[in-house]
Amino acid sequence: VLFHLGEMVTATASVADEVLELLGSEMNYNVQVVSPEEEDRELLDSFDISFGEDLGDEEDLEVRPPVVTIMGHVDHGKTRLLDTIRKTNVRETEAGGITQAIGAYQVETELDGEKRLITFIDTPGHEAFTAMRARGAKATDIAVIVVAADDGVMPQTVEAINHAQAADVPIVVAVNKIDVEGANPAKVRQQLTEYGLVAEEYGGDTMFVDISAKQGTNIDQLLEAILLTADATLDLRANPNMPAQGIAIEAHLDRGRGPVATVLVQRGTLRVGDSIVAGDAAGRVRRMLDEHGDDVTEALPSRPVQVIGFTSVPGAGDTFLVVDEDRVARQIADRRRARERNAELAQRRKRVSLEDLDAALRKTSQLNLIIKGDNSGSVEALEEALMKIDVGDEVELRVIHRGVGGITEGDVNLATASDAIVLGFNVRAEGKATELANREGVEIRYYTVIYQAIEEIEQALKGMLKPEY
Ligand code: GDP
Repeated sequence: VLFHLGEMVTATASVADEVLELLGSEMNYNVQVVSPEEEDRELLDSFDISFGEDLGDEEDLEVRPPVVTIMGHVDHGKTRLLDTIRKTNVRETEAGGITQAIGAYQVETELDGEKRLITFIDTPGHEAFTAMRARGAKATDIAVIVVAADDGVMPQTVEAINHAQAADVPIVVAVNKIDVEGANPAKVRQQLTEYGLVAEEYGGDTMFVDISAKQGTNIDQLLEAILLTADATLDLRANPNMPAQGIAIEAHLDRGRGPVATVLVQRGTLRVGDSIVAGDAAGRVRRMLDEHGDDVTEALPSRPVQVIGFTSVPGAGDTFLVVDEDRVARQIADRRRARERNAELAQRRKRVSLEDLDAALRKTSQLNLIIKGDNSGSVEALEEALMKIDVGDEVELRVIHRGVGGITEGDVNLATASDAIVLGFNVRAEGKATELANREGVEIRYYTVIYQAIEEIEQALKGMLKPEY
């Protein structure tokens, strides 16, 4: 039947979703193509579990703290800032223990006389942020972009901004190292206008705070700016009165304690004794520890806690949920593990390839591109030329990230998260990036001449504009 449909395939080849549907209708079967996400939803449905949007009753919603990731160029002070915030503001516990690095921590601050909490993800940089996003998890509400005032906007600053904007996460800018001689915070503001970040004092709506992570200057102002940005742009509420759900942000195997996972509760309240499943790891919460290493018995939304009691190690970025009984947790984990195995066995179809652009565009009518090149001139030239392709209003070409240098794992993760194609212009993918791209089914295209890239993209875009039949 496939040959008659014009598909020259062998038994081991993979085919596009549409071909499967067509094949089904030819043979009188109703073929439904489901994404792994849909499949998982069906799995949870079968246990009568709702995951994600369902927040329960409006009157049960309570304000939850914003979850913040700190990003920026290397050496601009991300780690130092996380340390300074942790030391000066970490919320006191009875034991008052020294803070442990569990992957995230909460601080307490005051806004308009009211005590408020903020959760910080303790892994600086956009790699973790985007890796999590690539797995469909949204852990971050607000991104703090750190820019050293003595160095100004650098490539990874731009990269971090692109990643935050691609994820629709509001940005607060921390202009760091104002204690250094030659620091020029005004220049940073001016530079960032080019990326759509206009300071409030210049008539924009992005909050900039001049800080010194080293001397602890204006840290409170930064925390205030985070809360003000959250209050102004986001409706951060969650229902604490439901079974807990959220994300595993870090996990490892501890020699003495077994699998240990730091989870971020996003809704509901997590309690000791709960039956829990994260990705394909099941278990029961035997103990919960906070960032001081103190035992806690329950964790409210936006609270990060270390959970002991999983029977295997969940993956970072896996979503977790609490279920009625251990048996259900185990069954969900087993089913997911079986599905993973099947998925690995099946040859992976490319996430988006130029050949099935048609299908991808019909869904989104937007083609996302990531451009990496050997120098900024060529990247700009390629982007400009691509943007000139005129295919009418039905499809939109969007360059979500561009940069100089080889194609990195970060690029591939961003491509996964945004369903983008990566174009390499006179550059190659770094070793591990190719591996990741193959695993994730991200398409990387290499070019050495601009017109060839233009021609291919244009052909593909035009191809999908042909009338449907
Ligand atoms: P990261 O790569 O962005 O995490 O940067 P780090 O936090 O490791 O900081 C890089 C260097 O800059 C370290 O030597 C820090 O001590 C220093 N540093 C960070 N913040 C400041 C600051 O506000 N003032 C000064 N003078 N140095 C800082």
